[in-house]
Amino acid sequence: MGLNRGRLRWDNQRRRPITDCAGAIKGIIKHCRHDQTVSLGIYISVPFCRTKCSYCNFASDVFSRVLFDRYVERVCADIENAPVIAREVGGQIERGADSVYLGGGTPTVLDTAQLERIFATARANLEVQSDAEITVECAPGTLTQETLDALLRCGVNRVSLGVQSFVDQEAAAVGRLHKRTTVLEDISRLRAAGITNINVDLIAGLPHQTAESWNVSLEETIATGVPHVSVYMLEVDEDSRGVPQYEISNFARQGFQSRHNLKYWTRQPYFGFGVDAHSMLVSATPDQGAVRFASPDSLEHYIAEAPLQRTEVSRQAALEESFFLGLRLTRGLDLGELSADFGEEALGNFENEVSQFLKGGLMEIDGRYVRLTPQGRLLSNEVFQRFLSPLKPAEVVRATMM
Ligand code: SF4
Repeated sequence: MGLNRGRLRWDNQRRRPITDCAGAIKGIIKHCRHDQTVSLGIYISVPFCRTKCSYCNFASDVFSRVLFDRYVERVCADIENAPVIAREVGGQIERGADSVYLGGGTPTVLDTAQLERIFATARANLEVQSDAEITVECAPGTLTQETLDALLRCGVNRVSLGVQSFVDQEAAAVGRLHKRTTVLEDISRLRAAGITNINVDLIAGLPHQTAESWNVSLEETIATGVPHVSVYMLEVDEDSRGVPQYEISNFARQGFQSRHNLKYWTRQPYFGFGVDAHSMLVSATPDQGAVRFASPDSLEHYIAEAPLQRTEVSRQAALEESFFLGLRLTRGLDLGELSADFGEEALGNFENEVSQFLKGGLMEIDGRYVRLTPQGRLLSNEVFQRFLSPLKPAEVVRATMM
């Protein structure tokens, strides 16, 4: 299907996209959020770190190990209680989870028994599928052999390494304790253990970083051959050095896109547990778009069982979110799926915005997808604002940063 730059092909009278989109819409097999076959994503937050990095604004910090057991206890109680929590917030819990993401924080600072308890509880209560993507975030240098063995026993098949820079001076300047060699050792140990699905997080804009040193980090990352890279605070060319870009901050080799993170950008349901964990479930009320809720963002309040913050997402807000989040993807937003989910009439509400961006060269249509052009990606924040109402819940924005 070819590109149709600069021209929105809608049927104004019937307020629906025409051209390839319209033809495609009829035949599109809807894999929307309300479909019974949609699987759940599970996020579990571990807010403990060895040091606090200077750039980090997550709810993570250095805490005494004596708190670890209490925290794990509390998280496991929430996991066991998930159906009750879902009911109380007015959401539906999907049967079967196809992704589990243990992040934070630095989950690998937990004892192996604590890690195993969390995974065992998730498996016992949330129907984790046998082929689920199971990711653990890991600070380089925290992966002892004992921890690695425990992760394997837990069925972990993907590890995300918070590298940030391969230049030791840059990593040290923001409080990271590892060196370049630590990262390379971790990658080879993971591979030797059978975990080849590895993500490397990089940050552009670190203190001491120059264009040249940024290139060093990029070259080193590519040379490792890891199949997935997340890059933050960056404007880079698409398909950076052979690892295709599939989202504004994420690059992956064929077949290695993060199943879990795709849930955030395609508005599939996810259930978060732990400090500052955010969730989005299909609403039990059919005329609502979804229900979002978040647990307290301080360890103290979370352990004290402070209440969840709940936000009902109207159908209109859900549609806005779909634009805002879906346009982050390189493939763009599936107009056919959107039309099936929200109706052709609702889609027509964004006709003016889309039309203007197409005309200005910031968007293009490819078949049933509308997406940002490379130029549009450089101005993505400005574009997204046009699809957001002023009172958009903060957690939507946060979800896009993950
Ligand atoms: S290790 Fe990660 S979560 Fe912890 S302080 Fe550093 S950036 Fe934040």
